[in-house]
Amino acid sequence: MARTFFVGGNFKLNGTKQSIKEIVERLNQASLPKDCEVVLCPPAPYLDYAAGLVSKSQVSVGAQNAYQKAAGAFTGENSVDQIKDCGAKWVILGHSERRTIFGEDDKTVADKTKFALDQGLGVILCIGETLEEKKAGVTLKVVERQLDAVIAQVKDWTNVVVAYEPVWAIGTGLAATPEDAQEIHASIREYLAKKLGSDVAEKTRILYGGSANGSNASTFKDKKDVDGFLVGGASLKPEFVDIVNSRN
Ligand code: PEP
Repeated sequence: MARTFFVGGNFKLNGTKQSIKEIVERLNQASLPKDCEVVLCPPAPYLDYAAGLVSKSQVSVGAQNAYQKAAGAFTGENSVDQIKDCGAKWVILGHSERRTIFGEDDKTVADKTKFALDQGLGVILCIGETLEEKKAGVTLKVVERQLDAVIAQVKDWTNVVVAYEPVWAIGTGLAATPEDAQEIHASIREYLAKKLGSDVAEKTRILYGGSANGSNASTFKDKKDVDGFLVGGASLKPEFVDIVNSRN
């Protein structure tokens, strides 16, 4: 079945009003493939601003994190309702930087995913192994464990996009080869089929993330289980448009 190509841009802790305006305007003016969804994820203070600048219906805005409670005494957190109120439709959850720097475990990521979905946000769910885990040959064990936590809580995966992001490839310039990414993506899809049924597995988009850029994105073009990209560094640059157009 045809899954709509999906490209997310994770700005991480980067950007100013000026630079975000330039990125959004570049996309507003670019010619983009019709069958493609783009989600720009600026830092939370700029969600409302970025959402207000977007002029293409296929482009939307997402947050980089969201708390798993509706409101209350949680200083420094951002709620799903506030994110939606700022015009965002998506949230990245389980990014490796959240897992490692901020100590989010599988259960926390699953709680956040369940809560965000229940409140109407789409979730870009990041999973992936570290270099040590890759060397130890436990990549599949790790991604299956990360998925299991979410599968235990989430039955409807309609609004979940999985991003396979090997940690060793994030921000290193060392992307996985298209062949290696395809192999892992196919295994992830197989696992989703085993746990949630083949219909969910066939419909769920699985993105690749980790040093994707304007030059290497098109080399993933014929990999049937790579449904798009989650892009960090290159999402801040003009080459982001090339990644969005890499299926042409
Ligand atoms: C990311 O942060 O999700 C990411 C994939 O980063 P980069 O593209 O810079 O490796």
